[in-house]
Amino acid sequence: MILYDYHLHTNFSSDCDILPEEMIKSAINKGLKEIAVTDHMDFLYPDKNMPFTIIPSEYYPYLYELKEKYMDKINIKIGAELGYQDTAVDMLNNFCKEAPFDFLICSIHTISGLELYGDSYYKGKTKEEAFYGYFSYIKEGIKLFSDFDVFGHIDYVNRYGGYSDKSLEYEKYKDIIDDILKMLIERDKGIELNTSGIRYNLGYIHPKIEILKRYKELGGRIITVGSDSHKPSDIGFKFDDARKLLIETGFDKITVFEKRKPEFIKII
Ligand SMILES: [Zn+2]
Ligand SMILES: [Zn+2]
Repeated sequence: MILYDYHLHTNFSSDCDILPEEMIKSAINKGLKEIAVTDHMDFLYPDKNMPFTIIPSEYYPYLYELKEKYMDKINIKIGAELGYQDTAVDMLNNFCKEAPFDFLICSIHTISGLELYGDSYYKGKTKEEAFYGYFSYIKEGIKLFSDFDVFGHIDYVNRYGGYSDKSLEYEKYKDIIDDILKMLIERDKGIELNTSGIRYNLGYIHPKIEILKRYKELGGRIITVGSDSHKPSDIGFKFDDARKLLIETGFDKITVFEKRKPEFIKII
């Protein structure tokens, strides 16, 4: 099994009420060697009841204390999941410098003030318009902001939206997905394998296997594995399947981070 969970949330995230210590204890019970805590930092999130903000001067020391407390049992890396929006680039750049983070994920949960969760982004758009718009937003976004380590759940766009068939037809978007993967590789950024796709009933682990294969083909080698858990029982979710998928697509290593520097761990 993969013993490194690089995407999980605690009550520092607006959509999670579990204390960091509970998540840590669950990871220890499941026999994990290392976790990266990656709470949400989504500047300018449109839902004012869900600010999705963390203050590094509170967050970092709090987690650092736990890191030291549990250092004999598990490695704890301190990270964040940054929600990209074009209007938040300066805030994001400043945030990244405010604490010595180990690991930063960049994800898109909101496009031009419209939430992907909750369907407001999809309203009035055909599926093709919505999906293409999402990938274009990533492509333009990477040019403006790249102070992150991996791109999170890169095909998140098909998780929501009220379409009768939400499936992502890879062939339709493969050119723009290629552009994105090449831009990430050129900048030494990775992608993540996010097992929550199964929990959201997509029937697969993000990203779709075609994207994963293409990333490998284009020379991508930085890949983290994360459960995106918001509760203790989901830590390490489907990590056996994740390992099988990686091996099947030609990866023999996963990536972990220490102070934003990648290290590679064999999985075979
Ligand atoms: Zn996310
Ligand atoms: Zn997440």
